Amino acid sequence: MFRFDNSYAGLPEDFYARVAAARVPAPRLISWNSDLADELGWENLQYSEEEIADCFSGNRQLPGADPIALAYAGHQFGSFVPSLGDGRALLLGEVVNSRGQRFDLQLKGSGRTPFSRGGDGKAPLGPVLREYLVSEAMHHLGLPTSRSLAAVLTGEQVYRDKALPGAVLTRVASSHIRIGTFEYFASRQDHESLKTLLDYTIQRHYPEIKGEPDAPVLFLAKVGRLQAELVSGWMALGFIHGVMNTDNMSVAGETIDYGPCAFMDEFSHDRVYSFIDQGGRYAYSNQMPIVLWNLSRLGECLLPLMPQDSNEAVRILENELMSTQAFLERRAHEKMCCKLGIFDHPGEQDKELVKDWLHYLEREKLDYTQSFRNLAELVNSGSYPGWFSPGNELKDFCDRWRRRIMQQGLDPEEIKKMMNEHNPVFIPRNHKIEEIIEAANQGDFSLFHEMNELLKNPYLEQEGFKSYTLPPRPEEVVANTFC
Ligand code: AMP
Ligand code: MG
Ligand code: MG
Repeated sequence: MFRFDNSYAGLPEDFYARVAAARVPAPRLISWNSDLADELGWENLQYSEEEIADCFSGNRQLPGADPIALAYAGHQFGSFVPSLGDGRALLLGEVVNSRGQRFDLQLKGSGRTPFSRGGDGKAPLGPVLREYLVSEAMHHLGLPTSRSLAAVLTGEQVYRDKALPGAVLTRVASSHIRIGTFEYFASRQDHESLKTLLDYTIQRHYPEIKGEPDAPVLFLAKVGRLQAELVSGWMALGFIHGVMNTDNMSVAGETIDYGPCAFMDEFSHDRVYSFIDQGGRYAYSNQMPIVLWNLSRLGECLLPLMPQDSNEAVRILENELMSTQAFLERRAHEKMCCKLGIFDHPGEQDKELVKDWLHYLEREKLDYTQSFRNLAELVNSGSYPGWFSPGNELKDFCDRWRRRIMQQGLDPEEIKKMMNEHNPVFIPRNHKIEEIIEAANQGDFSLFHEMNELLKNPYLEQEGFKSYTLPPRPEEVVANTFC
């Protein structure tokens, strides 16, 4: 049992639609994240697996829940859509744990809502498992993210290009307020609701700026810092979100809405995995400018709430976005430097090193994750291993890089150890996820559980799981991910 306190459902009625989850024929529990359940204050441990499956498929309503589908708008691939909303998700309510922390508990794939438009509101098993694995991995890799509490098979088929097993994911986030939630009211010129939303969001996420006369710009600054911190973290991990539409960007700065996302294998600045992103708008390296583009849309929503006249307000918001940009670039650089073993005040002079390293990976088509671990092996070794191509380019890089990291006056073993704390061994690799989904579609969840366990310690070597650390063989490469 959870302690619910449903504050969003207390907002005016046009913020959401009250709906019940669809009934499903035969719920069966795939996975229950008991560590997370504990953190959320789950009690009543005598619930059987069947009862848990019932509750987290939507068949049985948890006491204190008040399910609603949230209204929001958003820019999808650059075009504004005034009404999106939770079309296949349902906010069960907000759970408050014993430390007073508040979390949204949300079902994904629990049936149609008034925002479903042409969709069925359901989720196939594959995307549910991908989101479960990748969001939990993101958490254990150290980045803010929605988490996965439960995955349940529904016992019914979901139709995409073929019939697939249906499933429901229960995800947990600090909230599901998006840039697109602000756009929903701003585009309707409903300034009263916009103000209500801003006050609510500040109360919930940034109470320290509550009541400030310049709260709107302070809010933009706070969201900007968190989103910049997040996306610079994605860049360092080689993560490509895939659908950075404004409706998928949380104002609490967490990774949400895992769709056709991926951790990159072979490095390329232009890497895209999402089948729908034909133009490469959300390619790896575009993620940095896109955060700022998205924040500019949030800034536009806040304009009518600014106390200044509109020219002055625009100037203030633009200034804020410029400092967010500087912060984002600085953080991205610092994180890359840590991966390279540069921990003491990374500066301008180190940009060349980062650039040359990434250029080398790209030219040689090397695996992003593995290459950083390999580089750490070179800290205290004079010889060059097999992945090192015989050309002079890397030799020159290595000489400069060694000189730079040795300047720090740290023990080489220490540098190597610290590098490895920034460079994971295990990431949820696409070809592995595909293998897991294929097995799961045949009813075998053992690989799913295996990967899920491994990814609880992504920075540690773990005996016997080498295949998870390797890039795909040519025939295993996954070029496109779908949601
Ligand atoms: P997403 O690409 O997951 O961010 O979704 C964009 C919009 O499409 C959101 O409003 C979703 O709720 C909606 N949507 C996506 N898939 C479905 C579906 N199968 N049924 C209903 N709505 C959907
Ligand atoms: Mg979405
Ligand atoms: Mg979604």
